[in-house]
Amino acid sequence: MKTLFEKIIDKELPAAIVYEDEHCIAFKDINPGAPTHVLLVPRKPIPKLTDASVEDQALLGHLMVTAGKLAKQLGVGEAFRVAINNGAGAGQSVFHLHLHILGGRPLKWPPG
Ligand code: 5GP
Repeated sequence: MKTLFEKIIDKELPAAIVYEDEHCIAFKDINPGAPTHVLLVPRKPIPKLTDASVEDQALLGHLMVTAGKLAKQLGVGEAFRVAINNGAGAGQSVFHLHLHILGGRPLKWPPG
């Protein structure tokens, strides 16, 4: 069965898409935790970070580089956070790997 994010990738569900390329897609989080809160999602349905393997190294690198570029494009390039929740105990609710890009307000450390 498709995950929610696969349905967004396949345009079966609407989303406020801010970026797309052949490897990934980025769209606004429906329940933003900051003025800028974008989810960067690989098209490949890797359930969580611990499911990624050596063959995914280039893809993971692409996601990181793209996150930095996107943060700049979104106007938060000077101060932003990239977060990955891995597993329900860490707050993961959609089991399709995604990077949260958060910015636009002061971000405390450590997060809750
Ligand atoms: P997680 O909790 O798995 O790290 O992050 C999942 C994120 O997906 C949450 O921040 C949640 O607000 C967001 N989300 C859940 N359903 C939807 C949806 O239908 N559309 C969008 N754009 N975001 C969603």
